Parts: sequence; C-alpha cells; structure tokens
Amino acid sequence: MMTPAEILQAYASLGWKNNNDPMSQVLALRREDPAALGELVLGFLDSGQKHSTFIDTALDLMDDASYAATLRRVWQDARDGKHGEAMEEVLDSAALQWPELYSGSWEQLLAATRAEAGGPRYYADFAWRAMDAATAHEWLDRLDGETDEALRRSRAVALLHARQPDVTLEAWRRACAGQPDMDQEAWMDLLGYALEEGGLRPLHDSRPLHISASAAQRRHMDASQPAWRREIRALHPTWKRFDGPGKDATAVQLAGMGGALPGTCGLCHGPLHRLLSLDQPARAGIACDGPLSFGVCLSCLGWEESALFYRHDAEGLPQAHPTQRKDVAIEPQFPAEPLASAEVTLFEAPARWAWQDWGDSNGQQNLSRVGGAPSWVQQAWYPPCPDCGHKMSFAFQLDSDLPQDDGNEWMWGSGGCNYSFWCAHCRVSGHFWQCT
Ligand SMILES: [Zn+2]
Ligand SMILES: [Zn+2]
Repeated sequence: MMTPAEILQAYASLGWKNNNDPMSQVLALRREDPAALGELVLGFLDSGQKHSTFIDTALDLMDDASYAATLRRVWQDARDGKHGEAMEEVLDSAALQWPELYSGSWEQLLAATRAEAGGPRYYADFAWRAMDAATAHEWLDRLDGETDEALRRSRAVALLHARQPDVTLEAWRRACAGQPDMDQEAWMDLLGYALEEGGLRPLHDSRPLHISASAAQRRHMDASQPAWRREIRALHPTWKRFDGPGKDATAVQLAGMGGALPGTCGLCHGPLHRLLSLDQPARAGIACDGPLSFGVCLSCLGWEESALFYRHDAEGLPQAHPTQRKDVAIEPQFPAEPLASAEVTLFEAPARWAWQDWGDSNGQQNLSRVGGAPSWVQQAWYPPCPDCGHKMSFAFQLDSDLPQDDGNEWMWGSGGCNYSFWCAHCRVSGHFWQCT
C-alpha cells in the first residue's frame, strides 16, 4: 500500500502515465487505512493540481466522520481566502451530499458563488435546501430593500432552492415572476414544484429508496466492468447488497423487475416490458393503495414517442393510453427484449446519498432509485398528465446497464437514465428517458 504522500508524489510526477494508477492506489488505501483518505484529499488540494476522478472516489468512499472533518477543513480554507478549481469541485459535491456543511455561513456561501468569485457554480445551488426557516425569512425580508440588482437576484435564486414552498413562492413573486430571462415552467420543473392555485405542490419527496440489484443481475452487470469499478461498487453505500435470508433494517421492501406484462404497446402492439412492480407502493412514497406495476414498450419509448403514458387498472397493471394507440401496428426501428426478470430490494441508503447528480456520480454511484429528487441527465421536466393536465409526480428512475433477457445490457439511448411519473388522481403513469 502507498501512503497518501507517496500517492500524491507519484501523481504529481507521472499523472496517469507510465502505468501509474492512482485509482487502484486509492482503493488499496481504502482497504488498508480508510482514515487516511482525508489526508489524501487535503494533500491533493494543497498541491493546487487540477481536479481528478480518483479524488471523487476517495471522497465517495470515506466514512461520514472523515468526510465531515475533511469538508469542514476545506470550507474553512475557502472562507480564509484560499481557492482553486479542485477545491471548488469538492465544495460543490458537498452542496449535493452534505449541505449542512454550510449551515451558519449562508452569507459566505452566497459571496463565494457570486460572479465576482467565479460563480455561479452549478452544484452550489443544491446547498440552499439545508437553509433554516429563520434565515430564509430574513433573506426574504431583505429582498425588497436590496439595491444591488445582481445580489438581489442571487439571494432570490438561493431562496427558490431552499425547499420551503412558502419561501420559494414568495421569492418567486417578489424577484423572479415576469422577468424575461426566467421562464416559469422551466424554473418550476428545475425546482420540482407544480405552481397551482393553492400554491406550490412538490413533485418529488426528499428521501429516496435505492434499488439493490439481485445477485444474478449484479453478476451480469459486474462482468462488463473493470476491476476497479467492481471494487467501488462493492464498497459504495448506494450499491449495498442484500444476499441471503439475513434481515437488514435498511431494506424496506422487495420489488419485481423485468419480464413482460399482460398489456400491449399501443404503437407496435408488442408486449409491455416490466420496469418495476411494487406490492406496497405507498411505502416507497408513491401515492397508490394497492399493488402497482410500471411498464413501457422499450422498443418504442424515446424512438417512436418521446414520452409514453399508461392507464392502470384495478390490479395496478398498465394499458396503453388511448391517445397513444394505433389501429395498425408500427414497425419499431429498434425492437428490444425485456429486462431480465429479477427480485430487487428497495433500501434506505445513508442520508448523504439522498440527492445525487448524474454528472457528479461519474458512473460510480447507483442511480437506480424510487422517490427522492430525479438525477437529470438533461433539463428537468415533469410531464403533464394526459388525462387531468396536472404535472405528474416523480416515481422512480432507472440507470442504464440493467441486464436483459437476451444477455445484453439495456441502455437508455447512449447510456442515460429513465424517469417514471405517476398521477395518483387518474392512475396514469408517464415515462421518458434522457441521455447525453
Ligand atoms: Zn411498442
Ligand atoms: Zn391526472
């Protein structure tokens, strides 16, 4: 095993060349001396080098206590005037994973993310969700008297992200509504709210359940991965495994995945492909009393129609929505086999993984999850229900690489993510995928 100092020295002189492999060195450090990962990250930031993926891995695989201690040091350094690209990357990932880091120093965060400090930075906006109600209301009160227009806008945008619907709505009305550069629907989708007569209706909750693949799915998915990524998956809390009969308090319920459902596609008339079926969807945050099965036509979704909608019968099974039924079957351009049948486990990962970003996860985190905030690949979008016209609530997302019946691994487009939605009032589901 190389010490943090040796890893940093080798990286400084060789980078990724001459068989120098900092990723393997980080994984060895994680095995032999996990507490030293913090020293590695801080040493790297002190060296002033450009950000590198092995630093993300070191942060992702730290225990919560080391992560908190490391991030507190980095944030203190930033407030003391130090800066650098790698440091900002680390602080941005904290905005996503541990926004409480910024509690009590919201003014400093605002200053650090403003234009003159090189901001605004994309991930920093995730931090505002941890803002306390007292600060949020104090900032609201300051909006009207703020003479610096840019500061007023930055403060308002922070409040939009505070995840306190009354605060968001008031900040929107006072500083954003009617501004030509602030499209209302795009902003509400970004924030995950429907703006309705009664106020803001949240379109997602904040506590997801991660989907743990079955042992057979995992064997299949691991086979195509390099050893270092298999090891990350074995260690990362979002990839937790549930094998054998042992009870685990974090496992909330089992769910079915893959195979075909009884309904047929309204476009190609082929069988519907099952995505996920839940005996108790309400326990996973999906408003439905009985069992619920979600399915789509993998051949047609995203190719023949950008979004597909289904009405669900009393048993919870989907039928093609009447607006998406053709009398004469179309010939799909890309006929697809169903996902492989599997029993998966929905579980509660540690709070640090409640919010994940598709780009930030860099292929190292499990992004297949039920509930929580969607990890958008592209722009946020909640489809309106084809029956009642109201925005549908987010139900779950599935990442690429799930095994299929024919032995392949399913890709959403070039390897993106699928997003599924639910209108409890009409018992309608909606689905689409995004990729880069
Ligand atoms: Zn079809
Ligand atoms: Zn509806």
